[in-house]
Parts: sequence; structure tokens; C-alpha cells
Amino acid sequence: MICADGGKKRNNQAEMNQVNYEKEMEKVIAQHQGEEAVPSLLLHSCCGPCSSAVMERLTPYFEVTVFYYNPNISPESEYRHRVEEQKRLIQCFPAVHPIHFLEGEYCPADFDEAARGYEDVPEGGERCFRCYELRLRRTAREAARRGFDYYTTTLSVSPLKNARRINEIGQRVAEECGAVRWLPADFKKKNGYQRSIELSRVYGLYRQNFCGCVYSLRRDFCPVS
Ligand code: SF4
Repeated sequence: MICADGGKKRNNQAEMNQVNYEKEMEKVIAQHQGEEAVPSLLLHSCCGPCSSAVMERLTPYFEVTVFYYNPNISPESEYRHRVEEQKRLIQCFPAVHPIHFLEGEYCPADFDEAARGYEDVPEGGERCFRCYELRLRRTAREAARRGFDYYTTTLSVSPLKNARRINEIGQRVAEECGAVRWLPADFKKKNGYQRSIELSRVYGLYRQNFCGCVYSLRRDFCPVS
């Protein structure tokens, strides 16, 4: 039996052991302060609204290329709509360093394969972790192939996404790929999610009301991913 005090101590220890990914990112940024050229970063983006606050946070410190790779989005018309919003936002965004854009292939079969057997798992569970990994692995490969210094993703801006799992997967995939470093991040910190809502209003962005895959669409899921 665990006494109340013992449980409390364990909880405090667990909190202390939690990594603050925002602080980890700040350490990386500090390492590059004073350098002549800013490091290059391939930024996986799930959608324009989420990328807005992230681009604002990162472009003072990195030369960012947004990588739109999201085979999880269904149907295709929804995918096309989101990617056009992403491009429109980049064109009008007042970035400190120029933002570039790359689109990955749209191949829903790749997502189907990753999600197979996990179709009925509630959102936020194993299907989502596999979905993160599919997108992060593809981004890491692209970043390594093109010689980017770092890669990361906008996904952690959403309160519905698991920042610890995103960072663990991102780091592991970078180590497996070699030749590119994972930029740790938790973009929901410092009011990042709220800022994405404000910027979406400023730029008149389309904010979808489901995460992306057909399973999130079926479940009357409400908040934007
Ligand atoms: S709910 Fe979102 S993160 Fe989860 S599997 Fe579907 S698209 Fe991917």
C-alpha cells in the first residue's frame, strides 16, 4: 500500500524528471548566437494555423524550410485545401529570415499502412504515435539528404499532441538517420497554441475542425489539431 505522502513524493520526482523541451530548444538557439549565418532547419508542418506561431518563434534564429508531408490527411480535397493555406501563409508571413517551402508526396497508402491494426485506438494513443513517426521519419530523411542542420515539427503546438512522445521519436529517428539533428521543442509553451489562434485570425486562415485522418473525422472531434 502506498501512503499519501509517498505518492506525493513520487509525483514530485516525476515532475522534476520531466524534460522541458522549450528550455532545451533555447539552449540550442543560444549555442548559435553570434554566428555569422543562422542554421538551416527543415520544419515539418501539419497545417498553416499550427505553423503560424511556430514560424514566428523560429524564423529569428533559423533559415526555415517548411516541409509539408501529411499523407494522414483525408480526403484529398482536405489535403489540397490545407496545403494551399500553408503556401499562402508563407507568402505573406513577415519572417526575419526567408521561409522556403517543400511539399512531400501525398500517398495515403503510407498512412494506412502505419495505422493498420490501430484504427479503433482513441485519438492520442498508439495510432497517433505511429502517425508522428511516419511523418518525422520522412522529414528526417529529407533533411539529411538535403544537408539541413536541424529538423523539427509543428505538431507539439497542439494541446492534444504528446510533446514527450514527439520529442522522443524525433530524437530517435535523427540518430537512426544520422547527418541531421533533432531540434527539441514544445511549441505550446509560452502561449504558442493561443498565438496560433490569434495569427490564424490575422491571416484569415482556414482552421479545420478535425485532426486529419478519417478516424478523427468520424469521431466528431472538435478542437483544431
Ligand atoms: S488523429 Fe491525427 S495524429 Fe492521430 S492518427 Fe489521426 S491524423 Fe494522425
